[in-house]
Amino acid sequence: MDTPPPRIPERADAVVVGAGIVGLSVAREMLLRRPGSSVVVLEREPDVGFHQTGHNSGVIHAGIYYKPGSLKATLSRQGADELYEYCDAKGIPARRAGKLIVALDESELPGLDELERRGLANQVPGLRRVRADEIGEIEPHVQGIAALHSPQTGVVNFQAVARAFADDVAQSGGQVITGCEVGKVQDDNGGVVVRHAAGELRAGSAVVCAGAWSDRQAVRAGDDEDPRILPFRGAWLKIRADRRDLVRGMIYPVPDPGLPFLGVHFTRGIDDEVLIGPTALLVGARDAYDLGTVRRRDVRSTLSWPGTYRMARRWWRTGAREMHHAARRPAMVTDAARYVPDLRLEDVEVGPSGVRAQAVGRDGALIDDFVVSRTHHTLHVRNAPSPAATSALALARLIADRAEEPSDRR
Ligand SMILES: Cc1cc2nc3c(=O)[nH]c(=O)nc-3n(C[C@H](O)[C@H](O)[C@H](O)COP(=O)(O)OP(=O)(O)OC[C@H]3O[C@@H](n4cnc5c(N)ncnc54)[C@H](O)[C@@H]3O)c2cc1C
Repeated sequence: MDTPPPRIPERADAVVVGAGIVGLSVAREMLLRRPGSSVVVLEREPDVGFHQTGHNSGVIHAGIYYKPGSLKATLSRQGADELYEYCDAKGIPARRAGKLIVALDESELPGLDELERRGLANQVPGLRRVRADEIGEIEPHVQGIAALHSPQTGVVNFQAVARAFADDVAQSGGQVITGCEVGKVQDDNGGVVVRHAAGELRAGSAVVCAGAWSDRQAVRAGDDEDPRILPFRGAWLKIRADRRDLVRGMIYPVPDPGLPFLGVHFTRGIDDEVLIGPTALLVGARDAYDLGTVRRRDVRSTLSWPGTYRMARRWWRTGAREMHHAARRPAMVTDAARYVPDLRLEDVEVGPSGVRAQAVGRDGALIDDFVVSRTHHTLHVRNAPSPAATSALALARLIADRAEEPSDRR
């Protein structure tokens, strides 16, 4: 017999919209702070961690890239340490596999210097500069003229972490209800009313952690239109099982400092699968796991945003390269083989894909840091890009702090 669907309560102390890793960690944090309170998480999909949380590189970032003092820098450093401890306590496999950021030629050395400076300022544990002749001791198949090695960077399955957070919520008396889409969160009588697929739920406050759909929820609740979410599809290739020995841990390029993406990299995941990618291609739907998925509403939203054109004017060269990679597997392999020269076209197969929720400002800026806004009794997590999965435990504290501020503060 099928289990009956859970009853959706009509009242709660707090509601969280979205059961990705961010929404679940926020619900968990609220219950840690207020044991015995009623917290309900409403998720549209049939399972938790269905979108970005279940479709990413699975890398526990150590905090190298981020501008010292930024939220990303602080929260990823704290979050990574706490995540390792949490995984240890819960028996979730997490491995400090180590990562090399490799400079291929002299032109990339200033970029590597800057990453080293940021990593040291962010106190990334064990980070050190590696000479060309030392690279092979860490990754025998990699070539480069210099590298940064971060032994603390690791891998995990973030969907498994999200499931454990959902269990914590349930064990603390909260409810995680899947298969229930939220239409609108509205202020009402000193609290909020959440209109969802099966009716209404009244609560003291709400936190919306809707990932790629966060802008829509925010605008419906009366928040600013800026920034808008643009969907960038990330596709990976995977290395055939008998050639996985080409990569031990993680191998990354020196990234373009103007872009929030880290560039196509190699990752040996927690399941030992070795992925190459992801690409970053603007697509026609916020759930375009398949390139052919196009949704009229999402296309309209992208094309009607002035920031789309400003971004395109600035980044058209990068966009053209991403299209080239997405359309031609040999182009991506050739690019990746600059780091691992023994990699051949026949070593790779088509891998998984994910869709990034990238917040883009009206001025065309690709917004890089975490962004949280408020409409009276509702907090909106409007930008939770990588490394939000790494940072989830620390980010949840920041969001819970904000949720506790008086509601007239913006
Ligand atoms: C290609 C790629 C690679 C990445 N690599 C890494 C990495 O290696 N390390 C790292 O730390 N981070 C990485 N990230 C980033 C990380 O995955 C995200 O920052 C994180 O998962 C965001 O979590 P979230 O809960 O905000 O969003 P999501 O996981 O997308 O969750 C949002 C949830 O809200 C739900 N929802 C939306 N609208 C509604 C509604 N109206 N009603 C009910 N539910 C709704 C959705 O169904 C979804 O489940 C990567 C992301 C991508 C896409």
